[in-house]
Amino acid sequence: MKRYDVIIIGSGSAASQAASILSDAGKEIAIVENWTFGGTCPQRGCDPKKMLVEGADLIARFKQMQPLGVNGSLTLDWSTFKQRIDEYRFSIPTSKTQHWNELNIDLFQGEPHFVDADSIQIDGHEISAHQFLIASGQTPRPLDIPGGEHAITSDEVFDLDHLPEHILIVGAGYVAFEFAHIFRRFGSQVTLLIRSQALKAFDRKVVNRLIDESRRIGIEIRHGVEPVRIDGDTLTLSDDSTLEGLVLNATGRIPSIERLHLDVGEVETNQRGIIVNDFLQTSNPDIYAAGDVADSRNPALTPFAGQEGRIAALNMLRGNTRPLPERPAPTIVYATPPIAKVGLTIEEAKAKGIEFDVRDHEMSHFLTYERIHDETAFSRILIDAEGHVIGAHLIGQHAPELINLFSFIIQNNLSHQHVKHLEFAYPTAASDLTYLI
Ligand SMILES: Cc1cc2nc3c(=O)[nH]c(=O)nc-3n(C[C@H](O)[C@H](O)[C@H](O)COP(=O)(O)OP(=O)(O)OC[C@H]3O[C@@H](n4cnc5c(N)ncnc54)[C@H](O)[C@@H]3O)c2cc1C
Repeated sequence: MKRYDVIIIGSGSAASQAASILSDAGKEIAIVENWTFGGTCPQRGCDPKKMLVEGADLIARFKQMQPLGVNGSLTLDWSTFKQRIDEYRFSIPTSKTQHWNELNIDLFQGEPHFVDADSIQIDGHEISAHQFLIASGQTPRPLDIPGGEHAITSDEVFDLDHLPEHILIVGAGYVAFEFAHIFRRFGSQVTLLIRSQALKAFDRKVVNRLIDESRRIGIEIRHGVEPVRIDGDTLTLSDDSTLEGLVLNATGRIPSIERLHLDVGEVETNQRGIIVNDFLQTSNPDIYAAGDVADSRNPALTPFAGQEGRIAALNMLRGNTRPLPERPAPTIVYATPPIAKVGLTIEEAKAKGIEFDVRDHEMSHFLTYERIHDETAFSRILIDAEGHVIGAHLIGQHAPELINLFSFIIQNNLSHQHVKHLEFAYPTAASDLTYLI
């Protein structure tokens, strides 16, 4: 049986970053993947989604600017978008495997499971290692109702050859909202079914504004109902009403650990994923976990999966010398308009007993937003008693780029007096920053 220095399970962002560091350090590595190589983000997550968002966003801006004299008609062609997305996502496994072949990393495609604390079997073939990194990510939570298997998930959205006439989206998280806006802007009829609170981690005022705007553009939002049964194209709801259409299950994602037999590898788990310490080490000292599958304090987002992959690899090489840093997580919902947040919400700051000021601004009155007729733009910035930004919450066309500036400000602990004296190019969304804090 071949014995490696390190076996990595999964081949997404966390695995890639770890593999580079471990390979540079001269380790003999195997990567095991049970799907196509390359992970979620470029094949069925962030990247293909953002390609669709670019189209949705263009339509949104076009419609927004019609009162300012933009005329004509604009439509989006799903199949042309899909063709371009397919070219991109289907190129990923080839480029990834080529890269890893050049690094002399052995690649296994198949279903692995632990057979003891340092060996796995992949479809009958056994290999072992001194250390393991589990970076198997998350997978859509099944829709546990009769006929739930007929619902598609975000994994299958990119396989749709035609734009659905009516899409029924079950869920209230960022995936649900993003696809609701994408499909609506491409021309589908969209119903969003929200059981309780939408976008829980975000500021309430910002979320309510997004919900109002979602309704205004024709997304039907049904609150407090749950799907009960799917028969063919018919979805029955908890209030006994029925809807006809394609069901998209966006009820969340669960750790991809089901078939790994982690108990045999002496790795402890909970409902959120693999239990890790601050160094991303599991209950088995020779097994680390990184990315979405690890129950770390990071959100399940690509930049944090990459960061964790790097940190886990360094700890595997040098002993536990690198704890996971406390970094604020900039998070965006790519709806039309987008919303974004970084740092604490009002509720979180209160719960921590922090003294703070809330600075709200109706940015739609700023020229930056008047010239694109963005009537949704709003900012809510939380500043602590020492003058440091502790939270930023935004909605509007420029929210995604602005949130990176707020993230930079928080990460570098810049005071609001400091930021007020910075010069930004004018006229840009960034040049409004000094008025927001
Ligand atoms: C629709 C959607 C949109 C998203 N949009 C964004 C966004 O805009 N911005 C952002 O930052 N993040 C976004 N994300 C989240 C982002 O994709 C993940 O945080 C990131 O991909 C996690 O990387 P990872 O390496 O932890 O896991 P993954 O990239 O998921 O990689 C895990 C790999 O392990 C494989 N695997 C799973 N189980 C096994 C097993 N048993 N054996 C072997 N291999 C296995 C999987 O096939 C996969 O290739 C999005 C996700 C989705 C689903």
